Amino acid sequence: MSDCIFCKIAAKEVPANFAYEDDDVIAFSDLAPQAPVHILVIPKKHIESLLAVGEEDKKLLSHIMVDVVPQIAREKHIDEKGFRVVINTGDDGGQTVKHLHVHILGDRSMQWPPG
Ligand code: 5GP
Ligand code: ZN
Repeated sequence: MSDCIFCKIAAKEVPANFAYEDDDVIAFSDLAPQAPVHILVIPKKHIESLLAVGEEDKKLLSHIMVDVVPQIAREKHIDEKGFRVVINTGDDGGQTVKHLHVHILGDRSMQWPPG
């Protein structure tokens, strides 16, 4: 999608501090970190939100959640103390960028409920 900031980051048209990349997935530091470790993991393919994940994307989402997120958590050394994974979805969910992304937040104690 030509006007999507995360598509531009995935295409390396906009710079970012990358933490992970494979054929289908890329991860980078959040521009406005809400924790000492704050990484965004995205599919390179433009998927608008969790609600737009199709049958053909199920393996991709599983790969992100089961493989990529734990790998990044280990590499950032937040696996032992714990971390939070968030997918903001839609307006009430606080989604501001309409390209599916998984937040990984760590290296501080989290509160519940979130704001
Ligand atoms: P959302 O609120 O949609 O769940 O999260 C979007 C996140 O993307 C926000 O935490 C915001 O700081 C981050 N973000 C927005 N634009 C950019 C950008 O151009 N580069 C990076 N690295 N992060 C961005
Ligand atoms: Zn996009």
